[in-house]
Amino acid sequence: MNDSTKTVSIVVPFFNEGENVQRFREALLPLLDNVPGIAFEIVCVDDGSSDNTLERLVATVRQDSRFRVIELSRNFGKEAALTAGIDHARGDAVIPMDADLQDPPELIPDMIAAWRKGAEVVLARRSDRRADPVLKQRTAAWFYRIHNRLSNLKLPENVGDFRLMDRVVVDALKSLTEQQRFMKGLFAWVGFKTVTLDYQRRARAGGGSKFSGWKLWNFALEGITSFTTLPLKIWTYIGLIGALASGAYAAYIVMRTLVVGIDVPGYASLLVAVLFIGSLQLISIGVLGEYIGRIYMETKRRPTYIVRHRFDRDEES
Ligand code: UDP
Ligand code: MG
Repeated sequence: MNDSTKTVSIVVPFFNEGENVQRFREALLPLLDNVPGIAFEIVCVDDGSSDNTLERLVATVRQDSRFRVIELSRNFGKEAALTAGIDHARGDAVIPMDADLQDPPELIPDMIAAWRKGAEVVLARRSDRRADPVLKQRTAAWFYRIHNRLSNLKLPENVGDFRLMDRVVVDALKSLTEQQRFMKGLFAWVGFKTVTLDYQRRARAGGGSKFSGWKLWNFALEGITSFTTLPLKIWTYIGLIGALASGAYAAYIVMRTLVVGIDVPGYASLLVAVLFIGSLQLISIGVLGEYIGRIYMETKRRPTYIVRHRFDRDEES
C-alpha cells in the first residue's frame, strides 16, 4: 500500500468551546505539517453550542480546507457528537480527541508511526491524571474497578477517547447499531491489534469541564448497563440467601416458641427487617428500571444525533 495516499481524520467534539477553537487550531496545525505523506482532515462537530463556537469553526473552514464542520441540531452529548464525527470521517484512520487540548496533539505523529508499523488501534494512556480534580481521579478509578469486575469486557484504565483507529476498526464500530453509545466501551468491545502510548494529561486549555457529578454518575451507569447484565441477575442470589436465612430464623423461632413460649418484644428487630428487605426490593426495582428504561429508549430507534448543517470548503450542504 502506498503511504502517500493515506488520509487521517481527526474528530473533535465542540460544546461551548469558543475560546478554545483558535488555541486548538494553533496547537494542531504545525504538527500536521510535520507528518510527511499523510493528508489530514479535521472533522469538528458542533454539539449544539450556545456560544460562538460554530461561528469560529466555520471561519476556520473558510481559511483551511482540511477543516470540516458538522453542526448538530442541538446538544446531544459527547458520545453522540463523537459518533457523528466518526460517521462523517473519510480517513484511512480516525483519531478522536477533545477540543480543550487535554489530549496533547504532540502525540499524533507517534500514533501515526505506530499505525504505520501495523497497529490497528493506538491507545493513548494517561500516565498521570494530576491535572484532574482529586474527586474525579478517585471516582474514575472506582468506576474502572467496578466495571471491570462486573463485566467480561475489560476497559483499559486511564484511557479516554483519544486514540487512533484504522479504517477496519472504524467500520467495525459503525456496524454496532445501538443508539445509546458508550464509546469507550464500544471501542474496547471491537478489539483489534492494539498498541499503547503513555502521555501526561494536561489541564484544560480554557473554560470548564462540561461534565457535572450527576452527568458522570449517569455516564458510569450507562457504561455498566451497556456491557453487563450482572446487576440484574444478582438479585436471584441475594433473594436466595435471604430466603435461606429467614427459613433458618423461622425454624429457630418456632423451636424457641415451643420451648420457652411466646415472646412479645421484638418490635425493633421486626421493623429493621421490614425496612431492610423493603429497601433491597426498591434497589432491585431501581436496577430493573435502569435496564428497562434503556430497552425502552433503544426500541424507539431514534437516531443518535441529527445534523443541521455541514460545512465543507468544496461542498456545502
Ligand atoms: N463535549 C461535547 N458535548 C457535551 C459535552 C462535552 O461535545 O455535551 C465535548 C467538549 O467540548 C470537549 C470534550 O467533549 O471537547 C470533553 O469534554 P470535557 O473537557 O468537558 O470533559 P472532561 O475532560 O472534563 O472529562
Ligand atoms: Mg476536558
